[in-house]
Amino acid sequence: MREITTNKNKGFSRVVESVQINKNTGLIESARQCPSPNFDERCRDDDMSLIVIHNINLPPNQYGGDGIDQLFTNTLDKDEHPYYQDIHHLRVSSHLLIRRDGEIVQYVPFHKRAWHAGVSQFLGREVCNDFSIGIEMEGSDFEPFTQQQYDVVNTVIMSLLITYPSLKAEAITGHEHIAKGRKTDPGPFFEWQQLSDYLGTSLPANCESDENLV
Ligand SMILES: [Zn+2]
Repeated sequence: MREITTNKNKGFSRVVESVQINKNTGLIESARQCPSPNFDERCRDDDMSLIVIHNINLPPNQYGGDGIDQLFTNTLDKDEHPYYQDIHHLRVSSHLLIRRDGEIVQYVPFHKRAWHAGVSQFLGREVCNDFSIGIEMEGSDFEPFTQQQYDVVNTVIMSLLITYPSLKAEAITGHEHIAKGRKTDPGPFFEWQQLSDYLGTSLPANCESDENLV
């Protein structure tokens, strides 16, 4: 990831120019790698046609700690926080996490199947893990994400679209949209408009198949 520092708006601002994805390894070379054991094979390596945005915060409502890495590597200590009693047994992962300061953490290579979506449906096709890439934004349903996170997620998604032509700018949506009534992330504070403007499309994608539209 190349970064340019500017003094835009008097403050410190990072403009992320590009993110290199190694297609052989399925990894972002500049990301911090934190390999998760929670993945398996896609039916086909190139069966990738959807990007799913999530939010996550661990411990609840705290940022910057090790909880997310621990959850995705099955090393969460159930005695460290009361909430961990309920989740330490989960076997979940995502491909990427984008932290509040814009750091990218990668848990699963893109051509492998991460376990982020659960029961879900996109355009009539179920089990979105099979054919999607999961990106977690460190944040919650209750407060804004940071501009660094938008700058990074925009650039990451552009690189994914270039690297994997089966992905389309029009097929990007939220966990809440593919798991309606069950999930609420990335939530009302995620500014889809930033992604839509950057990619020149209208997001989040409609997730209903034609047969469900009246
Ligand atoms: Zn989610």
